[in-house]
Amino acid sequence: MSGIREQVDVCVVGAGHAGCEAALACARMGLETVIFTVSVDSIALMPCNPNIGGSSKGHLVRELDALGGEMGKVIDQTFIQSKMLNVSKGPAVHSLRAQADKAEYSRAMRKVLENQAHLTIKQAEVVELLSVHTEASDTITSYRITGVKTYTGAIYESKAVILCTGTYLKARCLCGEAITHTGPNGLQAANELTDSLKALGIEMCRFKTGTPARMDKRSIDFSKMEEQFGDERVIPFSFSTDEESVQIDQVSCWLTYTNEKTHDIIRANLDRSPIYAGVIEGTGPRYCPSIEDKVVKFADKERHQVFIEPEGRHTNEMYVGGMSSSLPEDVQLAMYRTVPGLEHCKIVKNAYAIEYDCIKPDQLYPTLEFKRISGLFSAGQFNGSSGYEEAAAQGLIAGINAGCYIKGCEQIVLDRSQAYIGVLIDDLVTKENFEPYRMMTSRAEYRLLLRQDNADLRLRRIGYQVGLVTEEQYQYVCEKEQLIAKEMDRLRQVKVGANKEIQMFLNQKNSSSLKTAASLAELISRPELSYERIAEIDTDRPCLPKDVIEQININLKYDGYIKRQLKQVEQFQKIENKKIAPGLDYNEIKNLRLEARQKLQKFKPVSVGQASRISGVTPADISVLLVYMESHK
Ligand SMILES: Cc1cc2nc3c(=O)[nH]c(=O)nc-3n(C[C@H](O)[C@H](O)[C@H](O)COP(=O)(O)OP(=O)(O)OC[C@H]3O[C@@H](n4cnc5c(N)ncnc54)[C@H](O)[C@@H]3O)c2cc1C
Repeated sequence: MSGIREQVDVCVVGAGHAGCEAALACARMGLETVIFTVSVDSIALMPCNPNIGGSSKGHLVRELDALGGEMGKVIDQTFIQSKMLNVSKGPAVHSLRAQADKAEYSRAMRKVLENQAHLTIKQAEVVELLSVHTEASDTITSYRITGVKTYTGAIYESKAVILCTGTYLKARCLCGEAITHTGPNGLQAANELTDSLKALGIEMCRFKTGTPARMDKRSIDFSKMEEQFGDERVIPFSFSTDEESVQIDQVSCWLTYTNEKTHDIIRANLDRSPIYAGVIEGTGPRYCPSIEDKVVKFADKERHQVFIEPEGRHTNEMYVGGMSSSLPEDVQLAMYRTVPGLEHCKIVKNAYAIEYDCIKPDQLYPTLEFKRISGLFSAGQFNGSSGYEEAAAQGLIAGINAGCYIKGCEQIVLDRSQAYIGVLIDDLVTKENFEPYRMMTSRAEYRLLLRQDNADLRLRRIGYQVGLVTEEQYQYVCEKEQLIAKEMDRLRQVKVGANKEIQMFLNQKNSSSLKTAASLAELISRPELSYERIAEIDTDRPCLPKDVIEQININLKYDGYIKRQLKQVEQFQKIENKKIAPGLDYNEIKNLRLEARQKLQKFKPVSVGQASRISGVTPADISVLLVYMESHK
């Protein structure tokens, strides 16, 4: 088939959460970029839950924003309810979550894309990757990417391609016995690209995920449910959003529960569930189980939470969080109608499971470039992850690195001590993932340092260096850093005596009295006191912004823990910074155990640190590797 021929710098395949961030990053780096989607009306579509953020995912959005990504800004414009989660716990696990108006979110992101210089949106299915051979041996063939071909035969020549195909490759949706070969929301699946990827030697696998039904709001009895409100004072996701602009009228969500009747219906119909009947081949996410899975795996639990969440301000569609399913329509209706408040519910969209092709991400470097195909990058659900935020975070990094690849500058890799994004990508490319990967705070070993409140201090500089953060935004963070350091210094030096006035003040605040003089910093570190609460006895203090005060409070209160974690990071970085030469042939290292040799040859770790995290590689193997590297310096 002959067709049109165009030349661009970057082709981004997919306009979901990963593709949007990737394309914006490339275009903002000045590269001519085209973003492909099977439907322009589904740009930044949320096919499942109507929220952005949440535990650890909120951290990802903040980090993405600090680096110059878009998700945080768009959700700040389009949320309908917002909550800071886990506020009763320590600051490491505080996480922002916002209910999105899905249609508005999609529209707002599309508008950003449409108005971005150097970026073109194209509705077309990409069916083939174009490449040239760069190296061939008995065991390995390597390629360089040269572009993509679409269904109509159009050729887009490019220097880099970023694959962000989400859940669309050979997608199959299942609702009981009813199976359709479509992508999410009845959108067209992309059935051809997989074969082209396989022809390039890319190893594919098949994962699945699922979504609950959407109900007509008018059919729900909210009086039988607990109302869930947003925060009184909303904190924005983006470091560049004005806090006053997010103080809006919020909508409510609702909480109800399943019960024994619900569970009985599910148990009685398990043979009609595609998962339990063996119809589904793909592996699903352990941490987002379907209601069938919950009932089977947690058989002793009498009830499960069900969150009823609006899909937007101007729609009657309500999302039934916690009850994703692939049971047949009649069973779904019966099961949902056992839940208090849903007795007369009408289903707008049935729950369904979706199966799709994705890759084993161990074929990627931590830059998200394919090890054997230069210029080919990938991000999002295609890399075996799950979730909008995980996708967006990878999209941004893949976009930045495709840009650096073309410009010939050093690509960026965030390590596990720098960012949740670093943990996410390191886990994906280093560990063997057998199910869709979801971010969780427990995956981050340095989580006291990787807080959502300090993402700007950790990452703005990197965003600035790659050209995604403005001079003004960067200068703001530099000044913030200086203000924090200067004020902490002052607080450590200013001492208050154990005099009558101070003892009275402490007594009033239910704080124990002083035996000798103490610094203001020591007082702030007490749980019952804070920077704000000691204002009365610190009359010479400067006037500081809220975000500076927040950092001072956290730094002083968690000083001991933070110092301990910084020491651990020092140790971690020693081994992380020992880089392994890209061409190292592990077969040459005779003392290495066979399993370790095979794993290292396959994963091609970029550092000794990464090598040490590969399953099957032991500390003894690492010692052998270090000795070899030392003797072959
Ligand atoms: C039914 C369902 C349930 C889900 N449940 C959950 C859940 O419970 N929890 C959770 O965290 N996440 C869930 N997700 C996943 C969530 O939707 C994704 O993680 C997220 O959308 C992934 O973003 P992405 O950018 O990687 O891909 P997507 O958002 O899927 O976007 C993919 C894009 O690629 C385009 N595309 C694909 N192939 C081609 C091609 N060949 N040519 C041109 N364009 C192409 C599509 O048009 C689309 O724009 C669910 C998804 C679905 C569909």
